[in-house]
Amino acid sequence: MRRHARSLQSHARVRTRKKAPRRSVLRRPAQAKLPPGNFDVLIAGGGLVGASLAAALAERPLRVGVVEAVPFGKPGQPSYDDRVTALSLGSQRIFERIGLWPALAGEANPIRAVHVSERGRFAKTRLNAQELGVEALGYVLSNRAIGAALSGLLARQANLQMLALAKVTAVELQPQEVLVTILGDGERRLSTRLLIAADGAQSEIRQQLGIAARVWDYGQSALICNLSVERAEAGCACERFTDEGTAALLPMGAERYAFIWTAERAHIQKLLALPEADFLAAAAALFNGRFGRFFKLGKRQSYPLKLVCAGAQRRERVVVLGNAAHSISPIAAQGFNLSLRDVAALADTLAAAAQGAADIGAASLLDAYVKSRRRDQTGTTVFTDWLTRVFSNPLRSVGVVRDAGLLGLELLPTLRHEFLRRSAGLMRQAPRLADELKIP
Ligand SMILES: Cc1cc2nc3c(=O)[nH]c(=O)nc-3n(C[C@H](O)[C@H](O)[C@H](O)COP(=O)(O)OP(=O)(O)OC[C@H]3O[C@@H](n4cnc5c(N)ncnc54)[C@H](O)[C@@H]3O)c2cc1C
Repeated sequence: MRRHARSLQSHARVRTRKKAPRRSVLRRPAQAKLPPGNFDVLIAGGGLVGASLAAALAERPLRVGVVEAVPFGKPGQPSYDDRVTALSLGSQRIFERIGLWPALAGEANPIRAVHVSERGRFAKTRLNAQELGVEALGYVLSNRAIGAALSGLLARQANLQMLALAKVTAVELQPQEVLVTILGDGERRLSTRLLIAADGAQSEIRQQLGIAARVWDYGQSALICNLSVERAEAGCACERFTDEGTAALLPMGAERYAFIWTAERAHIQKLLALPEADFLAAAAALFNGRFGRFFKLGKRQSYPLKLVCAGAQRRERVVVLGNAAHSISPIAAQGFNLSLRDVAALADTLAAAAQGAADIGAASLLDAYVKSRRRDQTGTTVFTDWLTRVFSNPLRSVGVVRDAGLLGLELLPTLRHEFLRRSAGLMRQAPRLADELKIP
């Protein structure tokens, strides 16, 4: 580990030389470079996941810092953009515990049922919230609404310092602390007992730490937009598998829906270039007229679909979190929901350690956190990867597997309950912060 730390130090020096003249860092006295106080937990990246962790650590005896390169509301902010997020019921309960839900409840659109079908095939199923005895399987929210609520909450958080418009450029691991260089309005050096790398799927911190990531490019993209439909089904989301890709409609209130179309990249490029009327007709045709005519098209945008898995989720006094740890296809709307369960577990772990005056960066503590999350992470990643491959494969034999899967969901109560539980983000073993996620 010591050898690793040394290699990081040399890497950090290379990066510092590239970003700014080295003397600006080294000739000032050490104290002048430090912000008021060092940190217990420094979170690099204030996107959906980093900001959620900061919020979950409110009212804990911990000094928390968040370094964010592009703050909420600024153009180009990658997390709080035009997308919507289907928040599982489990995530909604975590947001409630964190104190975020009151700011979101008015904007949240409940998903009370999900209709799943495949064009040209017999099998289909409808999953209902009532079957789990819950009010909704999840809620649809715009990413901007979640960003506004999170930034409002963090602004009121007494134990938090926001270091916005600043980028983490280098990290140096030490036995008792991590030294972090940030570049914003000048260069500063911070010290923290624990660093959280929540800087997204392309995480530079992960690379600096020498953590390799396995990347699987599905060769597909997701096209997203908002649109209105003639015959809306209140509170019902719809997932439809077709030879032209997978389409999903998420209810946004009245006749408005968020529409996601995932398909081969070249096909998505063609769809982006279609005149509005032709695109709306093509989208409506996917559902065989179930929702009538589509109209009032919003802006179309696309995202490449890749699976990214970090080879390790911790280093000495560092935890890799969110998309930096695992970025999965949005086909089953699980990415943020999975990360929020990681957030809940990590916040539980850190809160318990802080209360007992234990070292929050201790290797044994971080190992226990990583171990506790392995099963859920693996299950969710494998499940989503399977869905992405099976439901985007035009082969006839794979179509039979899909039919069998949908039929199984319709006819087999145990499979159906398991699928419902997973979709709603409910767990058999839940972190304490999220103990309401448990199912009987
Ligand atoms: C089309 C699409 C639809 C999706 N829909 C759903 C859904 O319905 N449900 C669901 O659960 N999930 C969904 N997801 C997944 C979800 O969007 C991700 O899980 C989530 O965005 C991950 O957040 P993050 O904070 O880890 O990373 P990011 O969103 O990438 O945020 C990283 C943050 O770090 C900052 N940053 C980067 N580098 C640095 C640095 N060096 N220093 C400081 N700051 C830095 C960035 O500015 C950014 O704010 C969807 C994804 C896509 C692509």
